[in-house]
Amino acid sequence: MPELPEVETVMRGLKPVLEGQRIASVVLRRAGLRFPFPEQFAERLTGHRVTALWRRAKYILAGLDSGEVMLIHLGMTGRFSVFSGEEARNLGEFYFETAAGPSGQGPHDHVVLTLENGTRIVYTDPRRFGVMDLFPATEAAAHKLLGGIGVEPLGNEFSADYLAERFRGKAAPLKAALLDQHIVAGLGNIYVCEALHRAGLSPRRKAMTLVKKKSHDPRLEDLVRHVREILTEAITAGGSTLQDFAHTDGASGDFQQRFRVYDREGEACVTCGMTIERLVQSGRSTFYCRHCQK
Ligand SMILES: [Zn+2]
Repeated sequence: MPELPEVETVMRGLKPVLEGQRIASVVLRRAGLRFPFPEQFAERLTGHRVTALWRRAKYILAGLDSGEVMLIHLGMTGRFSVFSGEEARNLGEFYFETAAGPSGQGPHDHVVLTLENGTRIVYTDPRRFGVMDLFPATEAAAHKLLGGIGVEPLGNEFSADYLAERFRGKAAPLKAALLDQHIVAGLGNIYVCEALHRAGLSPRRKAMTLVKKKSHDPRLEDLVRHVREILTEAITAGGSTLQDFAHTDGASGDFQQRFRVYDREGEACVTCGMTIERLVQSGRSTFYCRHCQK
């Protein structure tokens, strides 16, 4: 499943292609993906200019000059390809060789946006867990997928003080608290496992154990720093590894080589040489080193 760095990378790839461009036509080859497409979806997009593209949690958002916002979630297997004319245009690192079929006519190419300048943007999604929605910008804050989500882990509001406030009295395991989208938006399993290893914190400790009466454990500062670092590194690596991303179910190839604990059960910890263990928390695999992470 694409995590925040992959979504950010896809958004950055689409941004120069879409921003400022007018959508000339929209082809929908199905009635929906995970959910039905919104009513009059194609009609409400057609003829409008994309004014801005940004990311919130794991959603890509496109503002339109109609006053509406298009929301895209890549689900498990959603990808974008950009075609110019009949040829797939290689947008640097952002072209997925294995994504769309020839000319965007593959069996899993469900949505095709054609821009006024002739560029076609093809959305491919074999498992169809992706989501597309369209709603007035004024309703974004109250949207069922956007309302109530926590701070951006790369934003200014994400800090040790913020986490301390949210972790106070929280008996949930630290890992579960970090995966709680109401606390931090868009943090997923892979990067939480990695950040906890880098910070030397056990995924099993209660979140509230990092909070003191009037302050917080200094290790919460480390945790925030490591979360930011690992996401930034993954985004930097993402640009050169997106082709692998298509094959690796979310873990971009090159960056995957740098994982210290994720998917490394039974291997030696790079820090201490002891064995990486796996346990299941809230139905998800946690990988960690019990010697380094307390
Ligand atoms: Zn270790």
